Amino acid sequence: MISEEEARVKILERVQPLGPCTVPIESARDCFVAQEVTARIPLPPFDNSAMDGYALIAQNCRPGVRLRVIGDQPAGVDRKLRVSRGEAVRIFTGAPIPQGTDAVVMQEDVTRDGAEVTINTEVESGEFVRRRGCDLSQGQRILEMGQRLKPENIALLASQGFSEIAVGGEVRAAIVSTGDEVVPAGADLRAGEIYESNSILLRGLLETIGATVASVHHASDQRDVLRTAVESGIAHDALIISGGVSVGERDLVRPVLHELGAEIDLWRVAIKPGKPFLFGRAGKCAVFGLPGNPVSAFVTFLLLVRPALLKMMGANDQALDLPAILARLAVEVDNNSDRRHYLRGELGEGEFRPVGRQESHALYGLSRSNALLGLAPGEKFSAGATVRVQTWT
Ligand code: AMP
Ligand code: MG
Repeated sequence: MISEEEARVKILERVQPLGPCTVPIESARDCFVAQEVTARIPLPPFDNSAMDGYALIAQNCRPGVRLRVIGDQPAGVDRKLRVSRGEAVRIFTGAPIPQGTDAVVMQEDVTRDGAEVTINTEVESGEFVRRRGCDLSQGQRILEMGQRLKPENIALLASQGFSEIAVGGEVRAAIVSTGDEVVPAGADLRAGEIYESNSILLRGLLETIGATVASVHHASDQRDVLRTAVESGIAHDALIISGGVSVGERDLVRPVLHELGAEIDLWRVAIKPGKPFLFGRAGKCAVFGLPGNPVSAFVTFLLLVRPALLKMMGANDQALDLPAILARLAVEVDNNSDRRHYLRGELGEGEFRPVGRQESHALYGLSRSNALLGLAPGEKFSAGATVRVQTWT
C-alpha cells in the first residue's frame, strides 16, 4: 500500500499531455490553453464615452454654462470632430472621444435647447471617458499556458479578435463497470442484485472535467467477458474500470490486465474510502481501476483520476487540484484508521458538517455532500476548528 501523495506523483509522472489542437473559440470552453497568450490590442482600443451625453472641455464648465452642439458622434465611426471653447458634441456610449474634449456629461445632467445645451452639473476632467488601454495594455499576458478556459476568458479572446485558439488534446475515455450483482436501470431486481450506478457517476464526472466518454460497457465477473470489455476499453486514451480490483477471487481486473500485457504501476492506496485503487498503462492508455463501492469510486476519481486526466488535457500544475477553502468545523471529528480518511460533508456559509453515513457504499450521504475533509491517521479536530476542505462543484 502506498500513500495518496506517492500515488498521485507516480500517476502524474506516467501520464503526458496529449498533442494540442486548434479549435474555434466557440468550442474551447473548459479546454486548457496550449500556449501563453498576450494581448494583441489594448482594451479599450481607443478613448471612448462611458455614457450617452455630451463631450466637452471640463475646464470651462460649471452649472449654468451654455455650449453650442457642433455635431453628433455615434458609436461605430470616428467623425473626427474637433471641439473648441464654448462647444460640445452629442455623444453615445462606446463612441470615440472627439478631439479637444476631455469629459462627458450624462444627458440626464443637461438641458438641450435646439443647437445649444445647458450644463446643470459640475464637470471633472476625465469624467465618463474610458481611456485607451486602461483595462489592458497591448502585449500584456492574458492567459497562462495550461489555464482552463472559462466563458469570461473566451470572451476576452474574442475581444482581442481571436477566432480560434490552440488547446490541449481531447481525452477520450472508456468506462467499464463490473459485477455479476449489478444490473442496468429498468431491469427487475432479483434477490441479491443491485442497480448499476457507477457508470453514470463516472460519465458525469468525466464530462464535468471536459473529457469525452467514448464508450460504456458492463462486464460480468467472468474472465473472458471482462477481458473483451477491457480490451476494447484500452483502445482509448483512458479506461476507467469500476469494481473488481479488490482481493476476492472474483476481482479479476488485475489478472485480466496482466493477460492483456498492461503494466500495473500501483495497486492499493492508503485512503479511506478507496484503498483497492489501481493505476496502470496498456500501451498509450492510462488505466484506472476504481473500487466498486460508489463513494470509493467517487473519491478516488476526484483525488487520483481527475488530476491525471486534466494533465492529459493540457492543464498546468495549478489547475490539477480540487478547489480548496478554509471552513469552520461544525462538530468534532477524528480518524482512528491507519489511512487518510476523506469525510464527505456539507459546506455552507463557511461551515463544514459531515453528512450521512461515512461508509463507502453510502451513496445517499454522498449525494447530499459538496465537500471533502481529509483527516490524517490519528488526526482529531474539535468543533469550531478551522480546517481546509476541498470542493468539486
Ligand atoms: P467490488 O469492488 O467489485 O468488490 O464492489 C464493491 C461493492 O460495490 C459491492 O457491494 C458492489 O455490489 C458495489 N458495486 C460494484 N460495482 C457497482 C456499480 N457499477 N454500481 C453500483 N454498485 C457497485
Ligand atoms: Mg465486484
